[in-house]
Amino acid sequence: MRQLWIYGQSYAGSDRARPVIDPATEQAIGEVGWGTMEDAEQAVAAAKAAFPGWRKLPAPDRTAMLHEVARKLRANLEQIATELTLETGRAIAKNCGYVEWSAQAFDYYAQISRNTRGRVIPSPEAGQLSMVLKVPLGVVAAIVPWNYPLLLLAWKAAPALAAGNTLVIKPAGFTPWTTLGLSRIFDHLPPGVVNIVSGSGSRVGDYLVTHPDVRMIAFTGSTEVGQQIMRKAADDIKHVHLELGGKDPLIVLADADLEAAARAAVWGGFLNAGQVCTSVERVYVEQSIYEPFSERVVDITQKLLVGPGIDPENEVTPMIRPSERAAVDQQVQAAVAAGAELLSGGFIPDRPAKGYYYAPTVLVGVAEHMAVMQEETFGPVLPIAPVQDFDEALARANASRYGLGATLFTNDPKKVLQYMEEIEAGNVWINDPLIDNVAGPFGGMKRSGLGRELGEEGLEDFYETKHVHWEVEGRMKSWWYPWTE
Ligand code: NAD
Repeated sequence: MRQLWIYGQSYAGSDRARPVIDPATEQAIGEVGWGTMEDAEQAVAAAKAAFPGWRKLPAPDRTAMLHEVARKLRANLEQIATELTLETGRAIAKNCGYVEWSAQAFDYYAQISRNTRGRVIPSPEAGQLSMVLKVPLGVVAAIVPWNYPLLLLAWKAAPALAAGNTLVIKPAGFTPWTTLGLSRIFDHLPPGVVNIVSGSGSRVGDYLVTHPDVRMIAFTGSTEVGQQIMRKAADDIKHVHLELGGKDPLIVLADADLEAAARAAVWGGFLNAGQVCTSVERVYVEQSIYEPFSERVVDITQKLLVGPGIDPENEVTPMIRPSERAAVDQQVQAAVAAGAELLSGGFIPDRPAKGYYYAPTVLVGVAEHMAVMQEETFGPVLPIAPVQDFDEALARANASRYGLGATLFTNDPKKVLQYMEEIEAGNVWINDPLIDNVAGPFGGMKRSGLGRELGEEGLEDFYETKHVHWEVEGRMKSWWYPWTE
């Protein structure tokens, strides 16, 4: 059984243990301890106790420990990737990549946190020193979703720790296995610097969000829970960092490389069974190439291999749970009932016999008001709509409550220039969707989030900013009281 990890010790958790289910086999891969609010309280107390020592640790020592986290992740890459595949269903090759990228996040933030702790600014008078000083916030709660249990944790934990904060990590209910196993990756850090508490979102998660000693909530998950967290964080004016849902458009213009655009759309739509916050969720194609493009997408889709992610051949892996699959199917069937046409998929496949698969689905004849064009579809569904021109595509892409990612396929630099300025998305891709860069800030606009992970911006958010003014020469000022002496 994997246990909670608080102040460098393993605990069973105060609630009864829970099984962790492999979505490819529907079998339990093991059991985990389950935390309650009492355990969350212990974890916050541990992180609070560890904070003074961790923040004062000389930067070379702190960053050496973070490089050691990266080294241990790489040393255990295959085992961690396999565990990720067993609990998320995702393709094993992808998970190997995600362990490496997570290690890179620790190396990157260890390195850049050495560069600056603020800046010196011109002071009002000579003989004074004015500074912008960056200090850690204190205890940070990192609340993580089930689709990228390790990578999205690394994007929070690495900058938070590098800035000198201490952490309480809450993994998602479906995927606590790998995260609880990370105690062996963090066990060289001083006790309490990292604490891991599994448990329910509405109990353990909510307890962390409302705890007065938690100064920041770094959250990735659904927009609905993000909104609740932001409201609750308002009571104590906590810092929040929200990476939320998306409805990412992909625009294909007539001058684009059609083959590249079709392959990229299929990959971006069906990677991890469409359970990626930046999945391609709407495709707008210029009318003149709409038919050949749709045909090519269907052609590629129908040859995709559907099966368990542990087999490196399989391209479309299972969804996380039947409940999530039912929600996706409901959107697809509602679209069909309202007049959309299924060119591929739209059903639960007979094979593999076990596992929560959904056939990769291509829809045409979709109307903009349909849920499948408006709401996040967290599954392998690609709706394709024709547009007259680039301006219509851009307007429809922007007519969304979300603003996470967006892709344009074109070879026209003028259109690219207009698109990069006007598209309402935090992650803007041209001819190459879903590419993250550890040095490039990642995050959303509108209901897709607040704050940025990765890049220098992703470190900045884990500091409090102070303005420091120092009258070095100690001169009294003429405007101090009393004025009359
Ligand atoms: P979710 O919002 O249901 O849960 C996310 C985390 O929050 C889990 O750990 C959960 O236990 C916890 N939680 C739930 N209720 C809570 C509460 N009241 N208070 C505190 N914590 C609570 O999301 P999910 O189903 O795990 O993940 C899928 C969602 O995440 C999708 O909407 C997806 O778009 C989004 N996501 C966004 C990004 C991004 O970077 N923008 C990345 C991945 C996933």
